[in-house]
Amino acid sequence: MTAYPDTQLFIDGAWCDAADGRRLPVMNPATGEEIGQIAHAGIADLDRALAATQKGFATWSATGAFQRAKLMRKAAQLLRERSDEIAAIMTLEQGKPLAQAKMEVLGGADTIDWFAEEARRTYGQTIPARRGGVTQMTIKVPVGPVAAFTPWNFPINQIVRKLSAALATGCSIIVKAPEETPASPAALIRCFADAGIPAGVIGLVYGVPSEISEYLIPHPVIRKISFTGSTPVGKHLAALAGAHMKRATMELGGHAPVMVFDDADLDRAIPEIAAHKFRNAGQVCVSPTRFLVQSGAADRFIDGFVAEAKKVVVGEGFDPASQMGPLANDRRIPALEELIQDAVAKGATLATGGNRIGNKGWFFEPTVLVDVPLDARVMNEEPFGPLAVVNRYDSRDEIIAEANRLPYGLAAYAYTRSAANQQALQAVEAGMVTINHLGLALPELPFGGIRDSGYGTEGGSEAVAAYLETKLVTALND
Ligand code: NAD
Repeated sequence: MTAYPDTQLFIDGAWCDAADGRRLPVMNPATGEEIGQIAHAGIADLDRALAATQKGFATWSATGAFQRAKLMRKAAQLLRERSDEIAAIMTLEQGKPLAQAKMEVLGGADTIDWFAEEARRTYGQTIPARRGGVTQMTIKVPVGPVAAFTPWNFPINQIVRKLSAALATGCSIIVKAPEETPASPAALIRCFADAGIPAGVIGLVYGVPSEISEYLIPHPVIRKISFTGSTPVGKHLAALAGAHMKRATMELGGHAPVMVFDDADLDRAIPEIAAHKFRNAGQVCVSPTRFLVQSGAADRFIDGFVAEAKKVVVGEGFDPASQMGPLANDRRIPALEELIQDAVAKGATLATGGNRIGNKGWFFEPTVLVDVPLDARVMNEEPFGPLAVVNRYDSRDEIIAEANRLPYGLAAYAYTRSAANQQALQAVEAGMVTINHLGLALPELPFGGIRDSGYGTEGGSEAVAAYLETKLVTALND
């Protein structure tokens, strides 16, 4: 078994404790026991991180794109070489099955490589002039030091997208990584440090999230923020960014509809979407939540989906048989219990699950609620856990209306072989729509939401553009 490391801050190229020595405990969600500690940054540490990021930006923005890409690829290679050890650390602190942790680490290396390649393609334009002797061109320049805030559900994946886009474009970055799952992010950043990224380019801090965001976002050194987390916190941070005229990327909550039409290939759809629902114990912003099934397919879908939910092997992440680990923190247990009790009280049928498993660690049963009234809280609030609701609808229009009823607009899923249905799905208000397969979250694809799910994207060429300014240079030479 891998030993769990204590985690320090990373400031100006050095690992260090907090100036005042404060620390926080880290718990293993599979046992509920403390496994280690992290350094807790105070204002003095943040001031040092800000001075370092300013210096790091001067160095890194002056480093050629080819050299930046070379160092990033080296970090990706180190991440691959260390993937077994880092995956074990992630399972210890986050709970997900080891194989899924390893996939996340290797996926992180893939993301770094993709952004490293993009670093070499941040092209500007030459624009034809109205008079002779004038040259007009745009160049792309890095936006400046970035502050990034990332959550505990994908400790590496959530950071690596922000970090890679920032580094590719020549920005420096301070990451406020999740206090619940600190050591795998630190191991990721160690790969960059060991690859030779200069001091100050990357900073890593932990502490009280609101204290850190409220100090960093208004600070004049910080030019952009990127946040992944809940919609209420995102709105608060976006308002703060707006008040200080900082650019922002907001990747927030969702309540993803899954639209299953009468003509769907259910044999393919049911196991695929059930596995997607219970991945990472449903603690995923794009987790499918509202299953909106046309009446002709409803009985078969419900029987099949409930059977899949019952088959999921829930257990400790180091057991190779486990398909779903514990919830990542104890807050999620009462949150789920309250949503389920409320739905049942309002008339929903509990088809399977509904309870915490055991009294050690934060395990919860894969849960399916059927025929849930719209006023149940779970139909309106993101459950962020292994909880699915399945409702029946007669027509395509009713399904699409329900998909669009909530203010969220992150992912939406559909299963239908009909071209007319696929065409009608253009009316679904979501940042990402997948039809008849799951094709999300690859580094080359845009990843982001609309409406209350946020703005900006964390993948594809747009993700690179989010870290760049367009600067016009026009010159007369006659
Ligand atoms: P939470 O709202 O307290 O925290 C969510 C995340 O935001 C955490 O990483 C936290 O450290 C951070 N955060 C909270 N307040 C902050 C602040 N003022 N400044 C900067 N960062 C701040 O909720 P939680 O109990 O940790 O998680 C549950 C909810 O969070 C879920 O319902 C879900 O909506 C959301 N969440 C979303 C994602 C995602 O991938 N979009 C990931 C994790 C959590």
